[in-house]
Amino acid sequence: MQESIEQLSLVLGTVKYADGSDEHKFNCPFCEANGHGKDNKWHLYVNPKKEKWICFKCGERGSLDQLLQKLGIEKGAPVINDDEFMKLAKQLEFGIHDEEKLNDVSPSEYPCEVRPVEPGSSAYRYMKYVRGYEYKEFADYKLVYGEFMFSSRIFFPTFDMDGKLCYWVARKIFNDSDKVAKYVNPKAEKLNVFNLNRVKGDHIIICEGVLSAMAAGPEAVAIFGKTATKQQIWLLNSIKFDEYIISLDSDARKEAFSLASEFINRGKKVSLVELPEREDPDSVRKSYKKYLGLRTPITDSELILGGLS
Ligand SMILES: [Zn+2]
Repeated sequence: MQESIEQLSLVLGTVKYADGSDEHKFNCPFCEANGHGKDNKWHLYVNPKKEKWICFKCGERGSLDQLLQKLGIEKGAPVINDDEFMKLAKQLEFGIHDEEKLNDVSPSEYPCEVRPVEPGSSAYRYMKYVRGYEYKEFADYKLVYGEFMFSSRIFFPTFDMDGKLCYWVARKIFNDSDKVAKYVNPKAEKLNVFNLNRVKGDHIIICEGVLSAMAAGPEAVAIFGKTATKQQIWLLNSIKFDEYIISLDSDARKEAFSLASEFINRGKKVSLVELPEREDPDSVRKSYKKYLGLRTPITDSELILGGLS
């Protein structure tokens, strides 16, 4: 049963031993979703001998098996402690940055076994409670989560027009350590565009990141950054949309105009979604439709002015 505790501490962070008992204490990951404040006083008690757990703040409780299942931990899965994890992490040059590119992995296959993000996994709870999505809103994106060093990550897959996996971005689920990169992705040239294979309408919304694209809706795609590669621009231009809506983060105004020119030069209708300072489509998700409705068409002359300002 000690193994279960080690597995739990990998997901929940530092474990504390309750004095004079078999119990182990963690900060409860469910309190916020249960309408209580964030737990930082170790309210979740696990008794590995009795195989039970309870949170004395939000009241959630159950069997040890249920807790493992809720957190997406496979019972009996190999335990990697922090030291081993960091060693593995270093081997993969996995590290201290916000975004990390992995040299040794292929963009067209996952670097580990993966499972769909379905109820019962911590990945599901993350999408539902932290990001605020209903299952039906993200099911079509075919999100998966990984194992071992990727067990606390959700993969956001990009498919080519034939529906074949061609790129992925893996985001960490728990924001417990700044030492672990928030996003990791294969070190490969950006050839494709997230969610482009699913955009069926007469317009397309172009965002920076995958979560922004999801926030902007099924007609939105992500170019994985503030600038698009030649290949991505070619791809976007090769499909006929009546309107190209540029919706980068608010700090990328210059890049937005530059991207707009790529479509205007080919005779496309282009408009720009403007967001308040320091916001992106994901951070304003609940009111994104309002900003989308207020988008400004960009004409040639405005484009020149925009580039100059
Ligand atoms: Zn709780």
